[in-house]
Amino acid sequence: MKAIVIGSGIAGLATAIRLARMGYHTQVFEANSFVGGKLSEFNINGFRFDRGPSLFTMPQLVEELFELCGKNPAVEFPYIKLDESCRYFYADGTLFRSFHETSKLSQEVEEVFQVDAQVFLKHLQRSKNMHQYLSNIFMERSLHRLKNYLNTDTLKAVAHIPQLGLFDRLHDYHTKHIKHPKLVQYFNRFATYNGSNPYKAPATLHIIPHLEHGIGAFFPKNGMHQITNSLYQLAQQCGVQFHFNTPVTSIVTHKQKVSGVQTQLGFTEAEVVVSNMDIYHTYKKLMPQTKHPENILKQEKSSSALIFYWGIKTTFNKLGLHNIFFSEDYKREFEGISGEKEMHDDPTVYVNITSKHCKTDAPQGMENWFVMINVPHNNGQNWEQLMARARQNIIQKLSNILKVNIAEQIVAEQHWTPQGIESLTSSYKGALYGNASNSKMSAFLRHRNQSATCKNLYFCGGSVHPGGGIPLCLLSAKIVADLLASAEV
Ligand SMILES: Cc1cc2nc3c(=O)[nH]c(=O)nc-3n(C[C@H](O)[C@H](O)[C@H](O)COP(=O)(O)OP(=O)(O)OC[C@H]3O[C@@H](n4cnc5c(N)ncnc54)[C@H](O)[C@@H]3O)c2cc1C
Repeated sequence: MKAIVIGSGIAGLATAIRLARMGYHTQVFEANSFVGGKLSEFNINGFRFDRGPSLFTMPQLVEELFELCGKNPAVEFPYIKLDESCRYFYADGTLFRSFHETSKLSQEVEEVFQVDAQVFLKHLQRSKNMHQYLSNIFMERSLHRLKNYLNTDTLKAVAHIPQLGLFDRLHDYHTKHIKHPKLVQYFNRFATYNGSNPYKAPATLHIIPHLEHGIGAFFPKNGMHQITNSLYQLAQQCGVQFHFNTPVTSIVTHKQKVSGVQTQLGFTEAEVVVSNMDIYHTYKKLMPQTKHPENILKQEKSSSALIFYWGIKTTFNKLGLHNIFFSEDYKREFEGISGEKEMHDDPTVYVNITSKHCKTDAPQGMENWFVMINVPHNNGQNWEQLMARARQNIIQKLSNILKVNIAEQIVAEQHWTPQGIESLTSSYKGALYGNASNSKMSAFLRHRNQSATCKNLYFCGGSVHPGGGIPLCLLSAKIVADLLASAEV
């Protein structure tokens, strides 16, 4: 049996590996000349940059793929657990370091915020509970099969509904339990991990801190691109064939059953097709003649980002691998990100420096700064103009806090706008995570992983169930494989 995967994003790679292990002769068609989509890398003047994702959680989902293929993940995919997940710089000069180890974290919370650490730890326990009751139901299975609800996990979740934050907004939930405004801002930030707005999103998103605090934050030994690079190699070892610079131009169907895809190479036949292309463009560009699920395609999209990749000619001891420089008015910032108001001139700035761990990522005595702010998804804004304004604001903010003129430190530079994200990866409106999770029903309004109208057509990746971000993309691949295993092809 032959299978085709459209796109070599993290979900496409994981799906291809799983299909090959199931015995399918699998081919991946990729529009770009490189593997990995958003999770890829590039170099400028001796500086190496991961293009998109920088925070790595749930590495066991990558390891599982190596184990599935009989390989030792410790050898094939080495990574480290971070002792400190992030440094937070507040506008008034407060610095908070988020440690993994509970005793260190408790001490830091008490010293920095003058808050009883138990209040903080209890809030993390709430996150752990949510993860325990919800992850199995909402992250690991298809939501479109009745039998997936008929089990003890669902009963347990129903019994714990009052604790699951279904009726609160995330910001209100944190304020109710934590009160301290700086800690509320700290917990609010986790909403951005799937491109949502903490002032709108349901409190169920408090499931996210457990991934970082409870399970941990990790770093692949050679940078984030090692995730897709090692999976690409694994896929090849499993016999998967890759065709780069080969965009799929249509999905071909016959009598409501998939029969293959069309590319510049002509028609390629397959019994199964899995699209890792954004679901919006999958329908609009590859299946224009079919009926589209418009109510799902028109759901609110997640936020996007402006990213500056800066080669910096010195090193900063004050900074770690992950650093956040908070905005003073977070609510106002999110109104700008949601497009309700103009983009805020005091954005929260994220600086990721992989050369802190991978010394070869920057020339000696220098650092590679990945500098990102969240912005609305692309609605045709003048991004070149907004980027110039953001660059000025970011430089001013970082220069004030770090007490160094950052503009004078930049020796290499590139940037990525929402428009650029859309054109390079086909992500609709340049959204980083597919749909936003700002409504209670968001989980149910993502597109399913199996077509309801076309037999043997499946979907994986950040724009479909269970959502965006590396862990969920990997889970989408697993769900596709499970659905396929129980289907009659
Ligand atoms: C700036 C940024 C920061 C992020 N930070 C994090 C983070 O810290 N942690 C985290 O977990 N996640 C993060 N994310 C989100 C994460 O990167 C994505 O959720 C994930 O990588 C999406 O993977 P995917 O499998 O959906 O495919 P994508 O990476 O979107 O790739 C899709 C692939 O399909 C190809 N394609 C599209 N159309 C066609 C076609 N017609 N024919 C052939 N090929 C096609 C594209 O070229 C692309 O290679 C971030 C994203 C961005 C952009």
